Amino acid sequence: MQITVLAGGVGGSRFVRGVREECARRWPDGDGGTEASVSVVVNTGDDIWLAGVRLMPDFDSLLYSLAGVNDTERGWGRAGESERVAAELREWGVGWPWFTLGDLDLGTHLARTAWLREGATPSEVAHRLQQRWPLGVHLLPATDTEVDTDVLVADPDQLDGEREMHFQEWWTRYRATLPAVAFRQRNIASARPAPGVVEAILGADVVLIAPSNPVVSIGTILAVPGIREALAETSAPVVGVSPIIGGKVVRGMADACLPVIGVETSAEAVGRHYGSRSAGGLLDGWLVDEADAPALASLEGIGLTAASVPLWMRDLDTSADLAGAALDLAV
Ligand code: GDP
Ligand code: CA
Repeated sequence: MQITVLAGGVGGSRFVRGVREECARRWPDGDGGTEASVSVVVNTGDDIWLAGVRLMPDFDSLLYSLAGVNDTERGWGRAGESERVAAELREWGVGWPWFTLGDLDLGTHLARTAWLREGATPSEVAHRLQQRWPLGVHLLPATDTEVDTDVLVADPDQLDGEREMHFQEWWTRYRATLPAVAFRQRNIASARPAPGVVEAILGADVVLIAPSNPVVSIGTILAVPGIREALAETSAPVVGVSPIIGGKVVRGMADACLPVIGVETSAEAVGRHYGSRSAGGLLDGWLVDEADAPALASLEGIGLTAASVPLWMRDLDTSADLAGAALDLAV
């Protein structure tokens, strides 16, 4: 059984932990793990150079969370983190004072940057970082091309009424409150899927789209030329899980992103936005929450196999049940 998941950071991490757990239940290897092989195509659109180091926030969220070294209370970064280096960087005026880099986290960024400087590609670095902890899944950056996302925001103080900033500044400094006009992924037209990504999609028995941000997580993965084509071509069923429950984003600020691409904040609208594979879209199946069951008929009407189950990932059990429901929809 080969399962390939497309995922962003926070929603992606919870979901992939559920997939790993559900696989261990369905296809146990007798050693607490699974005989199934799980590959995760990870969003790289939030990546950024900051204070001289390369950050890959979604990749690191998945890495820390799957390794069990994440801070579960804060919801991001490493457990037991300290911020001594960040305080020094602030004194030097290096980096962004509103974007704290924890000491342990900086260790990861320094290792990554060191390897990049030695000539390793981001996906080679990703491979090395995963050697430290037995994750039980393979994390693959979607692309080795730097496709950092810029946000174009309306700004009446500017001559042309607009201003561009890195996604991290818009998201973290301004909490996505500045009116976004567009998202632009740098170099996207010339980007290529990282080694193994197309193979993971074409060779899969099931492809799952995590309940991640449809615009800046899944949207960026899909924007890498070649990935959409692989999803269209694969013989595996493609099943998505809605990140929207009852018209609300469950965690985070994805509702600030959907209007920018003209999509309403609803499970039905995101399902329609991804579209049915039978009509040139992305999905065969679409899972919505029980609160969104009234949308099922209309979703079936556009050629999707749709079902409603509890979509809140409260803990490992609920995440595993959700992963199981997604796998069931794939058969
Ligand atoms: P990010 O990269 O950290 O922004 O995380 P992702 O892109 O992976 O996921 C963010 C989205 O996950 C949020 O906007 C939510 O809509 C969604 N999400 C978070 N927790 C849950 C959950 O428990 N259930 C569902 N269905 N979606 C969730
Ligand atoms: Ca992200």
